[in-house]
Amino acid sequence: MRVVNFSAGPAVIPEVVLQQAAAEMLDWHGSGMSVMEMSHRGKEFISIAAKAEADLRALLAIPANYKLLFLQGGAIGENAIVPMNLLAGRTVADYVNTGEWSKKSIKEAKKYCTVSIAASAEDKGFTYVPTQERWKLTPGAAYVHVCTNETIGGVEYQWTPDTGDVPLVADMSSHLLSRAVDVSKFGIIYGGAQKNAGSAGLTLVIVRDDLLDRALPITPSAFHWKAQAEAESMVNTPATYAIYIAGLVFQWLLAQGGVAAIERVNIAKAALLYDYLDQTPFYRSVVRKEDRSRMNVPFKLRDESLDEAFLKGANEQGMVQLKGHRSVGGMRASIYNAMPIEGVRRLVDYMKDFERRHG
Ligand SMILES: *Cc1c(COP(=O)(O)O)cnc(C)c1O
Repeated sequence: MRVVNFSAGPAVIPEVVLQQAAAEMLDWHGSGMSVMEMSHRGKEFISIAAKAEADLRALLAIPANYKLLFLQGGAIGENAIVPMNLLAGRTVADYVNTGEWSKKSIKEAKKYCTVSIAASAEDKGFTYVPTQERWKLTPGAAYVHVCTNETIGGVEYQWTPDTGDVPLVADMSSHLLSRAVDVSKFGIIYGGAQKNAGSAGLTLVIVRDDLLDRALPITPSAFHWKAQAEAESMVNTPATYAIYIAGLVFQWLLAQGGVAAIERVNIAKAALLYDYLDQTPFYRSVVRKEDRSRMNVPFKLRDESLDEAFLKGANEQGMVQLKGHRSVGGMRASIYNAMPIEGVRRLVDYMKDFERRHG
């Protein structure tokens, strides 16, 4: 029996996607091969990658002057790949620090450039997004980096920063495809696929084409955006199976009605959970209301000595991966696109029942 999986990533994948992948495992569309066994340069795989690209472009309405790259190395890889690709002729980059993932990006970037912290939410334990009037941007910075959904802290931008002529770079790993986004407001968008777009091993990178000429000469070929753009992401062998799975997820999303439709469901799912958290003192959410993530919902039991019993009881009912990240403690429910609203209802019912028994 399948569990209700609240994992932060790798995470739940739509069941129909897994079923289709299973059905096609030994013989993809009469090719006599598994997708895993195909040459990445053969016509079968080229058609899989082309469809995945076209579908993702349609889902996010990616403008024609943006390249879409299917790379490897994850978002943590991009933490180094971003500065290497954008620092030619510049030495300073601005970073907004909203939590654990921002901190990781900052630490890595410091190996390559002078990092200026434009704003930080550390003063309040990373429970909010600093509004833009409080940012101190550096004129002539190479770029401004933000993490638009902090997977661990559960803090999400509900607005798009305006950085003028300086390119805005966003780590969207954990909320890409969960909500409408105006790609034209960003220079670079990147994210790992294992949250909302399938399996691990694939990194999605969306790059505005005028930013392809800023790479440092030391940039490795496999991570050189311009080289990868020119080679259709095939400077090296791409993560073929992960691209295939992501393609199936994109088809599933289109069948749901696209990003706007899934966003409405995501709003309803998050409201179910937050509305309940807000009307009981038994649990609490520490994130400022306006900045709460729709994808990752951390919460605490008022009495932390009940944490273990809470997790054990949830596990017994098939609800798994609810333990919060060790850096914040408590619980975290990740409710990505592929989590049906029934899964969130079951969690809230369990929370109510647990409160009745222990409150
Ligand atoms: C998961 C995650 C990462 C790390 O991705 P890797 O694939 O492990 O490199 C980075 N940033 C955010 C916001 C994430 O959610």
